[in-house]
Amino acid sequence: MINAEDALERLKEGNRRYLDAPTSPGDISPEARARTAEEGQSPYAVIVACSDSRVIPEAIFSSGLGELFVIRVAGNVIGAHELGSIEYAADHLGTKLVVVLGHTRCGAVGAALHGHSGGAVDSILADIIPAIGSETDETAASRLNAVFGARKVLSELARLTADGLRVVPALYYTDSGAVEFIS
Ligand SMILES: [Zn+2]
Repeated sequence: MINAEDALERLKEGNRRYLDAPTSPGDISPEARARTAEEGQSPYAVIVACSDSRVIPEAIFSSGLGELFVIRVAGNVIGAHELGSIEYAADHLGTKLVVVLGHTRCGAVGAALHGHSGGAVDSILADIIPAIGSETDETAASRLNAVFGARKVLSELARLTADGLRVVPALYYTDSGAVEFIS
């Protein structure tokens, strides 16, 4: 199994290829499908991303079948289902890197900033509002929300760090396509 540092390098290299390539170079070939169906999955990273249709983790990191364990929810918030999914990947698939990937122009973060609420969306905003505090800039707020999510994963799943699990917040720029890893 690939360790957290090598997994992070692979994500950075994948994002560089995404920026250079006209179409996704991720391997979704019938051969890859047959191989992963037969051999099972061992994804090298967990990505928690927003449901925003412009934020496609497999494309952003030039990945194909069997490479990324992707969890998507509006506002890339960390709740019980997300924690359970991360824990599954770490315990059963051996994945050592978790990236909480926020993005610019996030509608969920914008709604939290501007106080829009109502209905089922409220449970998502309730997780974003404490993350952004008094920040008013949308990009800075999205960055804070990713950092908050990563800290929550670390505190809730602290036992996994003993096995080499690393959790990194990051921000995807919907205009340039670049990923900023936040250390
Ligand atoms: Zn979003």
